[in-house]
Amino acid sequence: MSMIYRPRRLRVSEGIRSLVRETRLTASDLVYPIFVVPGTNIKKEIAALPGNFHLSPDKAVELARETYAAGIPAVLVFGLPEYKDECGSSAWDMKSPVQLAIAAIKQAVPELVVISDVCLCEYTSHGHCGLIHDQKVDNDATLPLIAKVALSHAQAGADMVAPSDMMDGRVAAIRSLLDDSGYSDISIMAYSAKYASAYYGPFREAADSTPQFGDRKSYQMDPANAREALKEVAFDIEEGADIVMVKPALAYLDIVRQVKDEFMLPLAVYNVSGEYAMVKAAAAQGLIDEPRLVIETLTGMKRAGADIIITYHALDAVKWL
Ligand SMILES: [Zn+2]
Repeated sequence: MSMIYRPRRLRVSEGIRSLVRETRLTASDLVYPIFVVPGTNIKKEIAALPGNFHLSPDKAVELARETYAAGIPAVLVFGLPEYKDECGSSAWDMKSPVQLAIAAIKQAVPELVVISDVCLCEYTSHGHCGLIHDQKVDNDATLPLIAKVALSHAQAGADMVAPSDMMDGRVAAIRSLLDDSGYSDISIMAYSAKYASAYYGPFREAADSTPQFGDRKSYQMDPANAREALKEVAFDIEEGADIVMVKPALAYLDIVRQVKDEFMLPLAVYNVSGEYAMVKAAAAQGLIDEPRLVIETLTGMKRAGADIIITYHALDAVKWL
């Protein structure tokens, strides 16, 4: 039988499939998140994120070396501080684990891009991402503190700061303080469309950042909204963001595509802790082929429009590519 259209011709061998493949996931698309804690010689697996660890700065350096050697160009550093208070002052303490780890990593592996998470929730006694006045998060009072945190990371040696707090105006506040302080080369990756998501559960154990009262719905986005994401991204770009982000990734791939089609900036997605934990739980029960599923998922994120994928799978994924 003669047929004009036989798409299967281009699927007959791996060689031909490889020639016509539209999306290629590579190690250089990935960013590996790491969690640093006070002390030395500490490497303790995070129960909620199997395969990921709480690391003292010296051990974070070892992992940074391994990450760079695997071809992954960047790490994203989160920290658990020695002390917490109402305003989160350990977040800009140059002796806190994040600042120490940034400096140590940049000294040991200068080529590795060090991105730092900028927020207050891991550092405040109440676990919210901003200052609290009358049981509410005070946006404008929080901005100078967020900027101060970003500056301390730049002073420690970070290449890029990544504000995740979702306060209005924080990108402009950070940009202006960095520029005034001689750090105009430090870039900002803004968590622009960050949704109030149930997928963050395991991270809160990893970062010890569960809010002590209420939730984050008054500053993070409603999962039902798409147009609002475009508005948030537009504002962050106007304020000086260099890279924008959609978080979480998997349930928001339509947002990723819309942002990609609308804007010119590099786009990051965060393949968050709950997405990772679901894969790990299913794999532990033998329900899925983990390597295939992970590569398929990350490829889907790239196909949807992500230029950068922040993922706890990074070190495993590069072995499976
Ligand atoms: Zn936060």
